[in-house]
Amino acid sequence: MGEEKKREMMGKNWNEEEEEELDFQERMERFRFRIQGEHMMIHAVIIILLLCVAAAEISSGKDSGVASAGMIVGIAWMVISHIIDYLCSRKYYKYNHKLLQFNKINIMAGVVFFSACMDFRPLPLLCGFSAFILYSFEFVECIDFTTPEERDKAMIVSVTCFSAAYIILSLVGRHFGLLKLVLLIGIPCFTIYIFLKELYHYVDKYVTYITQLNQDNTVLMQQSDQIHEHSRKVKEAVDLLGVQKIELSKANEIIKLRNQEMRLHNEILSLITIERDMSKVSKNVLDMLIERRYVEAAGIFVDAGMYGNDAPMVQFCGLSDKDNETMIGNAGDILQEIHHLDKEYETIIGTFPPLYECLAKAELKSMMRLQILTDGGMCGALLLVSKKEHIFDNELCDFYVTIAKQLGIAVKNANLYATMENLATRDGLTGIYNRRHFTKLFNDYVTAAMDTKGTIAVALFDIDKFKNVNDTYGHTFGDRVIVAIAQTADKVVREHGGILGRYGGEEFVFAFLNYDVDKVLPLVQEIHENIKAQELIHNGTVVKINVSIGVTDYPVCCSNPADLLNHADWAMYYSKQHGRGRITIDGEEIRQAMMD
Ligand code: GH3
Ligand code: MG
Ligand code: MG
Repeated sequence: MGEEKKREMMGKNWNEEEEEELDFQERMERFRFRIQGEHMMIHAVIIILLLCVAAAEISSGKDSGVASAGMIVGIAWMVISHIIDYLCSRKYYKYNHKLLQFNKINIMAGVVFFSACMDFRPLPLLCGFSAFILYSFEFVECIDFTTPEERDKAMIVSVTCFSAAYIILSLVGRHFGLLKLVLLIGIPCFTIYIFLKELYHYVDKYVTYITQLNQDNTVLMQQSDQIHEHSRKVKEAVDLLGVQKIELSKANEIIKLRNQEMRLHNEILSLITIERDMSKVSKNVLDMLIERRYVEAAGIFVDAGMYGNDAPMVQFCGLSDKDNETMIGNAGDILQEIHHLDKEYETIIGTFPPLYECLAKAELKSMMRLQILTDGGMCGALLLVSKKEHIFDNELCDFYVTIAKQLGIAVKNANLYATMENLATRDGLTGIYNRRHFTKLFNDYVTAAMDTKGTIAVALFDIDKFKNVNDTYGHTFGDRVIVAIAQTADKVVREHGGILGRYGGEEFVFAFLNYDVDKVLPLVQEIHENIKAQELIHNGTVVKINVSIGVTDYPVCCSNPADLLNHADWAMYYSKQHGRGRITIDGEEIRQAMMD
């Protein structure tokens, strides 16, 4: 409570309701101020009364010198103590109440001294006793009691004790020299009282302090338990977070891997959409698998005839050239082995079958063999090998199975494309080029020959009296004849790198780049001989076939490449007109004869 507020309170009337709201300490302060205010007047009256008594005693001459001096010292002592009391109680008592208590004792000592110097006379004794009682009250007010009951009890005890002491001292003081008694008995008694009181005060404080410490300790322990519990929960949460973090990073890794896989699948998909060449598709897929570090080595095998390919298509990458060749050499057997698998794929870890010995030497530890399937069943195989042991574990297999499926689609696409290309470029009956495609290829020959100043040899032949064959043996047999002749010619032409086409119903044409008549003539003769030698049997009857052939070349026989086929045709007709079953070489006189 501030000084201003205390003064304010002192000026106001006491309000009981207001007092109820205040705590004990504040009420004690107010009580002290009120008592002191009321006592001020009484103190002044008593001191004036005492001074009057002293003055009367001294002036009457009854007093001995000692009594007068004692009275004067006692009164002066009281006045000085009052001045100090005033200063302390008004300004410093709150901060230095011990000084205030000391001052009250001084006042009481002054009263006792003053009274003890009186002979046993009622008026000064009564005045002194009254002052003493008042000062006793004031002394008690200065003591800091914790409860009002304690304060009241202390007040009664102290007033009673001090009064008794006062009366005894006053009564016996006359006979035994009171000053001596005060010094010998009073002061030690007060000292012991103050000492005991202080001791009680400090013990009490100490007990309160220890109790408070215990309470604080209990609270601290509870808080420590709570903190411990909290930290345990935090630790659990942190552990959980750590586990979740690990799981998240694992999931992240899987997502990353799946993304990579999906990207590769997409790339393969777009590759097989735009690329028709199966070996290029295979090469690119293998490079992707090895470059992206999915596997160390890989191979793709496609059976012959799956997309119009005459021989099996084999690609193997990732091994040394020698080992790659070994694997390519084993392609047929590998395909056979994978054909016989009773499942779509198989994973091998550790020891490889004998066909794959070179892989073991290359320190490859695991292998996956997958069938490449199309609508018609297995069309090839995908072989993957890695240095890692568990790269083809169950959950990772799907990725490679999808690649095998994509390769199946690639084979199917290539097959469709080959079929369409066949339909567009080849004759449906014989399988050799149709006239349109032969003409296109022939034009390429012409361009090449003109660019490189090369030569072209052309031969055209027609089956002799074929109508008769049809009429005699039927059209089906006629077809067989056409096919047989086409195959016979095709074999020789293909062997020597030429082109053969069906020029008309039973007319065929073939051409060789950088061949002239002299060079092509042996081939023409070979074809002619082979055709003649053919024995086509119809219902047990051997049917012999012959053809009429016309041969020309550029630039010797025919200087204009655009006329080459006409020249060959003329020469062929020349053969027809001159006995059939013969070869005619284009020349000026042949042309003249045909013109005529
Ligand atoms: P030549 O050439 O020796 O003068 O006598 P030819 O009997 O062969 O006469 P031509 O060339 O006029 O007759 C060709 C016949 O070939 C007519 C046609 O019925 C037949 N022919 C054409 N294309 C086919 C075919 O694809 N299959 C069959 N069976 N016959 C065909
Ligand atoms: Mg004909
Ligand atoms: Mg004919």
